[in-house]
Amino acid sequence: MNTQAANLRTPHCPCGNPKQYSDCCGRYLDQGEVAATAEHLMRSRYTAYTLNREDYLLATWHPNTRPAALGLANQPRNQWLGLTVKRHEQSAPDRAIVEFVARYKINGRAYRLHEISRFDFQKGLWFYVDGDILQD
Ligand SMILES: [Zn+2]
Repeated sequence: MNTQAANLRTPHCPCGNPKQYSDCCGRYLDQGEVAATAEHLMRSRYTAYTLNREDYLLATWHPNTRPAALGLANQPRNQWLGLTVKRHEQSAPDRAIVEFVARYKINGRAYRLHEISRFDFQKGLWFYVDGDILQD
């Protein structure tokens, strides 16, 4: 089977939305559009991980919890397999959580990250604050 042709028939963004990257997370990563909800931001951050876009990950991290660097370029690269958003709850105008499962492989071994992430809205932008990892 020709994988490339299959991808053209069923275009989808790395975040799993059945849209082209340029109509989905590319709007935030490449075109500077502002994510309207925490879920949009979370999806775009997952996509940023798949593309090794450390610049975007740091820019969307809350200043109070943002690390100086992620060092993605110096780590064995994850092979990201997919994202499932399980829940998105906005508890206040400036506060939301997103529960998700991200699947990936490192050196051929499969992992599953189940996390509840917290997001804050500040000066017109959503930011990732931190998250709790759930042990399934
Ligand atoms: Zn997307």
